[in-house]
Amino acid sequence: MDPKAPMRTPAAWSFDPSTKTPLLGYCPNCSQSVIVLKARIVGVAGDQYLLEGNCKRCGEAVPFSV
Ligand SMILES: [Zn+2]
Repeated sequence: MDPKAPMRTPAAWSFDPSTKTPLLGYCPNCSQSVIVLKARIVGVAGDQYLLEGNCKRCGEAVPFSV
């Protein structure tokens, strides 16, 4: 649980990013896999959730999926 999270994931989503940490994604700015902060669901593709978060190293937006 992140006390700084501004909003809970909408109830319609069956997946809660906050239950799976740390989340890893590939940051194009750092050119490496990084820990992603503040992950949030931005869409669904098939049986995968599209998420976006912020790179722990540089703060850039990092899209990824689970
Ligand atoms: Zn980065």
